[in-house]
Amino acid sequence: MLADKDRIFTNVYGFQPWNLDAAVMRGDWDNTKALLQLGPDTIIDRIKASGLRGRGGAGFPTGTKWSFMPKAPKPDRPNFLVINADESEPGSCKDREIIRHDPHKLIEGALVAGFAMRARAAYIYIRGEYIREAETLFAAIAEAYAKGLLGKNACGSGYDFDVFAHRGAGAYICGEETAMLESLEGKKGQPRLKPPFPAGAGLYGCPTTVNNVESIAVVPTILRRSPEWFASFGAENNRGTKLFQISGHVNRPCVVEESMSIPFRELIDKHCGGIRGGWDNLLCVIPGGSSVPLVKAEHIIDAPMDFDGLKAVGSGLGTAAVIVMDKSTDVVRAISRLSYFYKHESCGQCTPCREGTGWMWRVMERLRTGDADISEIDMLQQVTKQVEGHTICALGDAAAWPIQGLIKNFRPEIERRINEKRGGGMSPMMEAAE
Ligand code: SF4
Repeated sequence: MLADKDRIFTNVYGFQPWNLDAAVMRGDWDNTKALLQLGPDTIIDRIKASGLRGRGGAGFPTGTKWSFMPKAPKPDRPNFLVINADESEPGSCKDREIIRHDPHKLIEGALVAGFAMRARAAYIYIRGEYIREAETLFAAIAEAYAKGLLGKNACGSGYDFDVFAHRGAGAYICGEETAMLESLEGKKGQPRLKPPFPAGAGLYGCPTTVNNVESIAVVPTILRRSPEWFASFGAENNRGTKLFQISGHVNRPCVVEESMSIPFRELIDKHCGGIRGGWDNLLCVIPGGSSVPLVKAEHIIDAPMDFDGLKAVGSGLGTAAVIVMDKSTDVVRAISRLSYFYKHESCGQCTPCREGTGWMWRVMERLRTGDADISEIDMLQQVTKQVEGHTICALGDAAAWPIQGLIKNFRPEIERRINEKRGGGMSPMMEAAE
């Protein structure tokens, strides 16, 4: 189990105030000028050496991403950092805790990361529904400006850097990086075709890097404690500590910082008091937020909770939003509900997603009630393959993968429902769901 002394987020539960004085007591903003004096290239090298991979889901190496930014930005085309605090993935709730209780970690991280990529400013795009969190964020930024930590000559470093917070309006798709840029520019939040990638032409057509809140908030601590310290946690290629968000049928759902690669069973036993009704009662787990495929109990129990470990069991770490389902779950209904979510959130730009998400949801609903033909299971599987990888952004994949995971792992359950309906009468569970 991760020792308290190795936790980066020491106020994730809000036992102490979030404000600047309390943050300074916790070690934030401690001689930030010295961090900046390392110079942009050294900071990027150290973040690369730490092995930090993006915490927003894709897991791209953070230092490498920063190195794509122009090293000598033109005066009329400044570099920008955009921080994704849109956090709309069902199951994810870690960035919310950081902003609620430890916003200065994020703001200091924005300055250091922005400096490393030679950015003129950082924009923090916060989810519209996070009203109290946005209030805290605005107040924390104002505190940082009042103390000279941001703005002209930030932290006395000679570097000018601004941080702006921008509230979204609650659209899931604005968490997609290019839709976020459109939204920041005041347009409808619809993903852009790539290329060009944001590092070439991003916000207002300028070079931009989009990073997740957690990826940025850990940066000052990595630099202070050393990349080797961060890299001492987790397995090869999956380094560091990570905020896990465990919800569903565990005895004590929680958000907790743990070492990457911790086995699933250890994570649940140590921090959540085990599975509701005991380990034999575990049905399946969605380990990385609603868009990754579910994993059956027998495959997840000993799996390491990291990018490679979860890929090996046919799923993904995503945002590490772990949704646990015990045997009381109507798993077909659960996935159908997710299908409805993606249908609702599709921005409608591309046909496979606009039409496919609605089509998949309607078939899922019929599979749920058993009003379908057995052959439609294969047809649904084929349609998910036609949506996956054929859309502008990853929402199409996100809608397809949960259904693929369901068919792969629970096909007999789907067939049972159809056969039962044909034979007359639904199971009590299905009737209750009606
Ligand atoms: Fe919009 Fe869906 Fe196409 Fe993404 S995949 S651009 S959400 S229609």
